[in-house]
Amino acid sequence: MSGVTLTSVSKKFGEVEVIHDVSMEIAQGSFAVFVGPSGCGKSTLLRMIAGLEETSGGRIEIEGRDVTREEPSNREVAMVFQNYALYPHLSVFENMAFSLRLAKASKEETKAKVEEAAEILQLTDQLKKRPKELSGGQRQRVAIGRAIVRQPKVFLFDEPLSNLDAELRVQMRLELARLHRQIGATMIYVTHDQVEAMTLADDIFVLKGGYVQQSGAPLDLYDDPTNRFVGGFIGSPA
Ligand code: ADP
Ligand code: MG
Repeated sequence: MSGVTLTSVSKKFGEVEVIHDVSMEIAQGSFAVFVGPSGCGKSTLLRMIAGLEETSGGRIEIEGRDVTREEPSNREVAMVFQNYALYPHLSVFENMAFSLRLAKASKEETKAKVEEAAEILQLTDQLKKRPKELSGGQRQRVAIGRAIVRQPKVFLFDEPLSNLDAELRVQMRLELARLHRQIGATMIYVTHDQVEAMTLADDIFVLKGGYVQQSGAPLDLYDDPTNRFVGGFIGSPA
């Protein structure tokens, strides 16, 4: 079963087309990684899947349901941003509970979901703190926690680790891999870091100039890059 399917998706900003006829199938429960240089369209693709940006053409399906014209809140996706976007005046608990409050979840349900997410993310002792009292890694975990409580079918990560130092990135990478194993949802992860791509991905989609240049399992791309661009990006000679 497909988790996310794009069929001939395009995107124009004004007269300029930045995504050209992209089709892809991301298996349900898999970890897909979009890689490619700055400006190649990674964030735009993710934002279209999330519904934060309209498509100019084509179709987007989530677990077989056409969501191309759905509001973001009706897509069962949750996006984690690189700048966390936490509410500074709210506690960690309230930050994670926010979307559940909007959805009018009961107090008991909210508490249970937030506590479960906190446990997965090792934030149980931090729930009363404000974001400014946390480390960078903990703030990133809160941002992920806000996605987890919504129990989305698809998690979208836009370069979530790019603000962290090298050591913390390695640690968070392992945590994301563990999270994926534990939750089993479809995850789409955007990065320009090929080590991250190679270590996290079930499937890598190499983007260039708004096209998918090549896609496949990390080792297949490594062994058989179709051209110099992919080889250069994945780190093997083409
Ligand atoms: P990436 O995330 O891979 O760095 P983006 O998806 O942010 O790339 O951008 C892809 C292209 O679309 C770039 O040329 C960028 O300048 C352009 N673009 C992105 N967002 C907008 C926007 N809101 N208005 C106009 N152009 C945009
Ligand atoms: Mg981007």
